[in-house]
Amino acid sequence: MYPLNSSLLLAESGKHFVWRSLKTFDLCYCRIARSVPSGSSHQERMVEMAQEKPTPKPSPVSKTYWEKAAQQELWIQRCNDCSAYFFYPRVLCPECWGDNLQWSRVSGKGTIYTYTVVHRSDLQPFAEKTPYVLAVVELEEGPRMTANVVNCPVDRVRIGMPVRVVFEPTGDEHKLPQFEPQEG
Ligand SMILES: [Zn+2]
Repeated sequence: MYPLNSSLLLAESGKHFVWRSLKTFDLCYCRIARSVPSGSSHQERMVEMAQEKPTPKPSPVSKTYWEKAAQQELWIQRCNDCSAYFFYPRVLCPECWGDNLQWSRVSGKGTIYTYTVVHRSDLQPFAEKTPYVLAVVELEEGPRMTANVVNCPVDRVRIGMPVRVVFEPTGDEHKLPQFEPQEG
């Protein structure tokens, strides 16, 4: 399950298709798009792409995030000038525009800032998972991440619920940070 739903936008740039959403990044349909004959219509390519889950495609900026996630650790960037944590990975601090940045391991704990329950999806891999929760999680360190809430009945999820990170295999060498309820 991935932090996506049918309300997200699909952006096309040449033959590269990238899901753009709330802080969702690096989930790319490039490889699938290239396999579709060039004479196909846009709609036909969309249908073909919808048959497979997107997998992470790390960029030079996000490489550390995905490497650490594969080791079941949540690391995000922090600015050495203003001390702000931020997510998603960037080359400049969004608070002070400084470029003196470092990677820092965070607790993986947070609370649900907002969420929705997805009951329908036009994309086959996600339709199989419905109903599922797409949430914005506010980390203890401040930044917010979009993720699924897993290991929890959808009707138990509430705004403000304490959650912690878990790592979901993506079927390749990567793992995707998701969140589950904190016990106790
Ligand atoms: Zn800064």
